[in-house]
Amino acid sequence: MDSQFTNTPIEYLKGVGPHKADILKKELAIYTFNDLLQHYPFRYIDRTRFYKISELNGELPFVQLIGRVISKEIVGEKKARRLVCQIKDDTGILELVWFQSILWVERNLRIGAAYIIFGKPAVFNSRISISHPELESYNLQDKKQGNLALQPVYSTTEKLKKFLLDSKGIQQLQSTLLSAILNNIFETIPSYILEEHHLAGRKEALLNIHFPASIKLLEAAIKRLKFEELFLIQLKLLKNKLLRTQKYKGLVFGEVGDKFNSFFANKLPFELTAAQKRVIKEIRADTQRPVQMNRLLQGDVGSGKTIVALMSMLLAIDNGFQACMMAPTEILARQHYQSILHLLGEDFISVEILTGSTPAKKRREIHQNLQSGILNILIGTHALIEDKVIFTNLGFVVIDEQHRFGVEQRSRLWKKNPVPPHILVMTATPIPRTLAMTLYGDLDVSVINELPAGRKPMQTIHLYENQRLRMYGYMRDEISKGRQVYVVYPLIKESEKLDLLYLEAGIQNIADVFPLPQYRISIVHGKLTAKDKQSEMQRFVRGETQIMVATTVIEVGVNVPNACVMVIENAERFGLSQLHQLRGRVGRGAEQSYCILMSGNKLSKEAKIRLETMVRTADGFEISEIDLQLRGPGNIEGTQQSGVLNLKLANLATDQELLLAARKTVINIFEDDPDLKKEENLLLKLYFDEKREGIGWNKIS
Ligand code: ADP
Ligand code: MG
Repeated sequence: MDSQFTNTPIEYLKGVGPHKADILKKELAIYTFNDLLQHYPFRYIDRTRFYKISELNGELPFVQLIGRVISKEIVGEKKARRLVCQIKDDTGILELVWFQSILWVERNLRIGAAYIIFGKPAVFNSRISISHPELESYNLQDKKQGNLALQPVYSTTEKLKKFLLDSKGIQQLQSTLLSAILNNIFETIPSYILEEHHLAGRKEALLNIHFPASIKLLEAAIKRLKFEELFLIQLKLLKNKLLRTQKYKGLVFGEVGDKFNSFFANKLPFELTAAQKRVIKEIRADTQRPVQMNRLLQGDVGSGKTIVALMSMLLAIDNGFQACMMAPTEILARQHYQSILHLLGEDFISVEILTGSTPAKKRREIHQNLQSGILNILIGTHALIEDKVIFTNLGFVVIDEQHRFGVEQRSRLWKKNPVPPHILVMTATPIPRTLAMTLYGDLDVSVINELPAGRKPMQTIHLYENQRLRMYGYMRDEISKGRQVYVVYPLIKESEKLDLLYLEAGIQNIADVFPLPQYRISIVHGKLTAKDKQSEMQRFVRGETQIMVATTVIEVGVNVPNACVMVIENAERFGLSQLHQLRGRVGRGAEQSYCILMSGNKLSKEAKIRLETMVRTADGFEISEIDLQLRGPGNIEGTQQSGVLNLKLANLATDQELLLAARKTVINIFEDDPDLKKEENLLLKLYFDEKREGIGWNKIS
């Protein structure tokens, strides 16, 4: 559509005016014609099918039926207060129930009148009823008059309804809008692509998604519009990638030198897994070309990403560059620092750590050594991105635990060298393929899909509250073998006080069951100072305490190989990816390790699936797929900040095939015609010109 029409303020639509426009903006964020056009129906009423009351059962989805009101009555007290209305047709009687807006509905329901009733039948007390149905007065003409087979239903709000903008009202606006702009709806996708994928044209699709003449046309409309969404995102992502490679030179790491080779020959404490070797090769290949690398490394907790990062940094150093590694928390940064020092040994290269708590004097020293080039590797938190931190020749940047950093923060690391450094983004939260393609579609992706050999598979057990003694049994057994145990409590911000009470009660409990002097406990939670946290952690790391009771501060990255039991309290309150992360804290040594998920006796359906999934599989990628199915992409950690996922129709959980097709199509286009010069791609070129979407820093990872 011509942007002139797209961006017309909604108040200029006939029937809207300033007042309604105001409410549309406030309630539905509809500012322009295009916003309204994209306020797609969320459901359609099949006007071809009316159910009879006798046909209803609890398994049916939303249904439509016609009945006459024979009684209405407000019953029950307080919270149980409700309006019960009986509806009759020629096959039986049905109850309708309201728990809210009781008085309003009661006033408007007329005994003896006929209504079209729309809702989800449910069985309650072995009787069938529908709660909070949609009602619409019915008169005989209606049924015949209706020329729509499928009536759109739009989401709306109570406030909008007061201004006659109920679903019907919005339908009216859509109808006005569509007839006003019909001749100005232009195609966004080149016709050869439409043909190739059997896609409807844009005008037809928009008409049919709002006013479908048949299910078949509706499906075609939805497919087309979903494809468009996914296609345009991929077009943007891959265009950015292309621009980046055209615009920026990359540092060439021409050789594998001393440090890399001698580390490999003398210091590497284990055989690399095939996956680790493959990824190092991929990075090696990337950094040999004069193009900046932007690579995402996905690998489950414990898959050994650190060594890959370290060896890549050694490559940089061999070629005369510095490297840095940024972690989201101080604990993690410290952990990386220590394990890297440990791997490298003394006097191999110069490594430092910089965090918020680095003393001023040390900080100055680091700044100096960075600029003079004495320092080879700097590890740290976001303290690294401060402007004061100046490298003499930064060549390689590792960003660990990607999802914790904002895009803006990351982009600042780019600017620390005239030619942008190579970037390796590592995430321990495997994300589903479709999500990766959408969130990180402009990055190359490496995957470590194999754990180092010799690890015993973890055993995960789900116990209910009434089986708590068994949990203590596991703990006691393992501690008696000299192992260590984590006990983790959820701490969720809104109810922090309550959670802290739970935590305190839990600590008391553990202290009672595991008394001094035989048992010693470390306690780590968010209310402690960084210093206290650190010292409690260290006591556990050194093996002075056998039990670590903690909130989720230990979630990421802590590595204590001797810890082999992870007890998660209130496990039903954690999300899947969080559970998976926590579980990853154990099972790092050669011993059999356990994860014990403690939960209340009563679980929601979703919580049950989460816990069952954890018991069944340890594969982070599989778990992430299930997480996506359960929660939708908007709720997956790390996606909230991304505008990329403002998808109106496409669903990354269910539209995988369409996404793959869209991405493949875009890849082919750019391979064949990188500058979009060809006649048939003119439309796509216009898309970029019109929106003036340059590369900008905001899309750089
Ligand atoms: P993550 O991918 O979670 O960052 P780490 O890099 O911390 O994993 O590695 C987890 C543990 O596995 C570390 O103790 C590390 O030394 C060890 N490790 C890594 N690679 C191998 C390997 N190829 N063989 C044996 N142990 C390995
Ligand atoms: Mg790690």
